[in-house]
Amino acid sequence: MQTTLTSLNANAAKFIATPRKMLINGQWVEAASGKRIETKNPATGEVITTVPEGGVEDINRAVAAARKAFEEGPWPKMKPNERGNLLLKFADLLEANAEEFSHLETLDNGAPLSITESFVSLSVDNLRYFAGWTTKITGETIPVSVPGNIFNYTRREPIGVIGGITPWNGPLYMAILKLSAPLATGNTVVLNPASLTPLTVLRLGELVQEAGFPDGVVNIVPGSGSIAGAALTEHPNVDKISFTGSTEVGKQIIRSSADNVKKVSLELGGKSAHIIFADADYETALQNAANAVFFNSGQACIAGSRLFVENKIYDKFMSDLAEYTKNFKLGNGFDQSTILGPLISEKQKNSVLGYVDIGLQEGAELLVGGNPTEAELANGYYVKPTVLANVSNDMTIAREEIFGPVVTGMPFNDIDKVIRLANQTEYGLGGGVCTTDIRKAHKVANAMRTGNVWINTYNLLDPASPYGGYKQSGLGRENGSAAIDMFTETKSIWVNLD
Ligand code: NAD
Repeated sequence: MQTTLTSLNANAAKFIATPRKMLINGQWVEAASGKRIETKNPATGEVITTVPEGGVEDINRAVAAARKAFEEGPWPKMKPNERGNLLLKFADLLEANAEEFSHLETLDNGAPLSITESFVSLSVDNLRYFAGWTTKITGETIPVSVPGNIFNYTRREPIGVIGGITPWNGPLYMAILKLSAPLATGNTVVLNPASLTPLTVLRLGELVQEAGFPDGVVNIVPGSGSIAGAALTEHPNVDKISFTGSTEVGKQIIRSSADNVKKVSLELGGKSAHIIFADADYETALQNAANAVFFNSGQACIAGSRLFVENKIYDKFMSDLAEYTKNFKLGNGFDQSTILGPLISEKQKNSVLGYVDIGLQEGAELLVGGNPTEAELANGYYVKPTVLANVSNDMTIAREEIFGPVVTGMPFNDIDKVIRLANQTEYGLGGGVCTTDIRKAHKVANAMRTGNVWINTYNLLDPASPYGGYKQSGLGRENGSAAIDMFTETKSIWVNLD
C-alpha cells in the first residue's frame, strides 16, 4: 500500500529524542526505583521512547508536594482572576504548540491527525471555559428560619488534593479534564496518565511550568495503574479521585478509596444504543451510524456500538452501512487519507478480534471487516471497521464493551420495545436517535437511561455541557457547571448578628 506520511513536527521529534522525566514539586525527576517503561507507536509496534515508571514512593512524593502546595504555597492565597489568568496562559501555550501536541498524540496513541488535532482544540477550549469560571464560583445567602438575628451563607471551597487517573484513548483531552475544573476551583493535582500513552501529558507538564503555576500544584507521575494508580487511590492524603477508564477498574477505585472516604468521580465504560427510524434522513443516518461507532477506531466510551434499525429499512441500511464502511481507509494516523488508525496495542487488537469471533460463534453475520490481510498493516495493531448483522441484544457482543471498530446491527418494529432494548444494559453513557419526527426523537431521548443523547447527530462534546454516565457508566459529571460542583465542597456559615 502506497502512503505519504506527514513528517513529524520538529518539536515533537525533539521531545522524544531525549528520554523524559516526571514532574514532582516543580522538578523533573526519575522514578525512585530508576525504572523506565517503553511507549510504542501503535501504527508500527516500534518503541518511541521510554518514560519513568512511577511507583509507590513517587506517588507519595507527588502527593506530599500537592498537599504542601494546597496548604502552604502561593496557590491557596491566589486571587480567582490570577488562577484564571494562569489557566488562560496554559491554554494559549497549548494552542501555540498545537501541531506538536497532535503529532505526539498520533505517534503515541495512533489516532489520525484529524482526530488528535480536534482533541487539542477541544482541550484549549476546555481550559479557557474553566478559566472563565474562576471568578464566578459563588455561594448563596440562605433565608433561614431559626430564631434570632442569624445570617447564613455558603462558600464553595476546593476539596484539596485531587488524584487524576486517565485512559489511553484520548490521553491529552482526558488529562485536561483532570486539570481544568480542578485547578479553576483551587485544588492541586497528581496525575497518573495511562502507561500506554504518557507523552502528551508529560509535555503538558512543561507547559504547566511555562505558564507559571506554582510548584506542586500539578504533579505528573506516569506508571502502571496497578501500582502507581492504586497507590494514588489508596493514599490517605488524597481527598478525591477523578478517574476515567473501565467500569471494572472504576469499581476497584470505589473499594480502595473507602479508607479515608475519598470523594470519587468516575467516567466509565459504555455500550451505547443508536436507534435509526425509517423516517430518518437516510444519508445523515448512515453517516451518523458509522461516525458514532468508528470514530477513533471505536475506542470511544460513547461509541454507538448497538445499532437498532427499524425493520422496514434494516436489510438495506445494514448492507449500505457495510458498503459505506468499506471505503474507510485504515492506516497510519500520519497519512492524511487515513480515517481509522490502529488500535492501541496488540492486546486490544486481539481482544476486539476475539469479540468478533465470539459474535460469529453466537450466530452473528459478518457483513464487512475483521482482521486486515494487507502485509503493510501487519506490524501495526489494525482491525478493519466491522459490521455484524443478525445480532440480538443478549449476545455477548451486544452486552460487553468491545472498545474497537465493531458495530452490531439489530432490527426493531416498535418504539416502546426498542426503548426497552436500548436500556437493557448495565451501562448508561451515551445514546443516539435518528428520525425526522420530533415527537419520536424526544420520546426516545427522554426515555434513554444515559447521560448523553444525540438526536440526528452524534459524538458532540462541549466544555459547557455536562458529560457523564448513568448506571455503571459513572458517578458525577465533567464539564459545565456540574464540574464546579464536583471539585468543590460547600460550607455553610452561621453568623449571630445580635
Ligand atoms: P482501564 O480502566 O484499564 O485504565 C484506565 C486507567 O486506570 C489507566 O491509567 C490505568 O493505568 C489505570 N488503572 C488500572 N488499574 C488501576 C487500579 N487498580 N487502580 C488505579 N488505577 C488503575 O481503562 P483503559 O483500557 O485505559 O480505557 C478504556 C476504558 O475507559 C473503556 O472502558 C472506556 O469506555 C473508558 N473510558 C471512559 C470515558 C468516559 O468519559 N466515560 C472516556 C474514555 C474512556
